[in-house]
Parts: sequence; structure tokens; C-alpha cells
Amino acid sequence: TQEPDPTPAPREKAVALTFDDGPSRENTGKILDVLKKYGAHATFFVLGDRARVDGDLLKQELEAGCEIGSHSWNHPQLSKISWSDVKSQVSRTDNIVKKMTDGYQIKLLRPPYGAISDTMRKKLKKPMILWNVDTLDWKTRDAKKVFKKVKKEVKDGDIILMHDIHAETAEAIKQVVPWLVEQGYDILSVSELAERNGKKLKAGEAYCDGKK
Ligand code: ZN
Repeated sequence: TQEPDPTPAPREKAVALTFDDGPSRENTGKILDVLKKYGAHATFFVLGDRARVDGDLLKQELEAGCEIGSHSWNHPQLSKISWSDVKSQVSRTDNIVKKMTDGYQIKLLRPPYGAISDTMRKKLKKPMILWNVDTLDWKTRDAKKVFKKVKKEVKDGDIILMHDIHAETAEAIKQVVPWLVEQGYDILSVSELAERNGKKLKAGEAYCDGKK
């Protein structure tokens, strides 16, 4: 474990960066290098099935001051499977992350495809985190387009969706992070953004942004 960095004064605006579908041996480390360089944080919504193989990357995420969230075990549409299967997707991912990180407890879930059922809203013991800036990085696979989309859409309190499994996303981050800093944004994890804005994240509720 490392000593926490001294906390600088908050800047005027803040966003949360989020990365789904990892960890990725090829790209997660590159993204962490950029985040560390600029004192930025993010939430990595990991798949249990990948965390199982690349658990050392989870530790690197935590060492960089980032948050780990759940993106299910292997990316099913949770609204279309039975509640017992949903529970298993969530608990297996919680457990493998806990094991690979010597005890880290996942608090947040990002349901794959943003798909949420009424049962999940009633019974799930985690807040569900959606997004309001979709970079479409998985679709365009183009660093310039990802950067352009962020520049065009981002506002104070937003949650930005990206995927740390793509090389183009790791490339885009080299532009996105310094640009956000230059625009006066603090770059935070989802939990940090919510806390900064006095927003309480409740189990079974879905959130698209980190505004109060
Ligand atoms: Zn996904």
C-alpha cells in the first residue's frame, strides 16, 4: 500500500471517467500511466472473468487511486436472465476482485448495455451507474473521434463512458485527460464525484451523472 497523495484544492468543475470491459493486459496500464501523470482518477468497471486472469492490474488500479466497480462476470444482459443468475454474476465478480486485491469491496455496478430490470431496482444491493457522455469508443475505434466527442459534450458533473480494452481509447486518453485539466475539471472516480457533489448513491437506483 502507498501513502495517499496530499489532496490539492478542488477545481471549479469535475467529471468522472469510467472504463468498462477490462482489465486489459495491453491497454489498462497505458491508461493508468496517463491518469497518474495528471493526478486523475477513474472508475474501472471490470468483468469478473477478466479480473480472474489479470488480477495484478486491479492492484495497479487501486494503487493509482482509482475505484473498481463491477461490470458483471461475463457481460450478459442482466435484465434478460433470472434473478438468481444476476445474483451469481454480481457475487462471483465481487468475490474474485476481493481475492485478487486482498480484500477490496466493490460498491458499484455498471450493468452491461445499461440494461436494468425492475427486479434489479427492487433487490440489488448496489447503486447502478450509467453515463451521460458516451464516447462510442468501441464503435468508432478512433482516438480523434473519441476526443472530439468529449470536447463537444462534457459538462460539470458528467460521467464519461469509455472502454479500457481498446488501443484507440488508450491513445485518446493522452488528449482527453490534459484537455479536461486545462478546462478546469477535476477528474474523479464515480464515488469521488458523488461525494464531492453531496450525492448519496443508493442501492437499486440508477444514476446517469454525478450532479446533486
Ligand atoms: Zn460492457
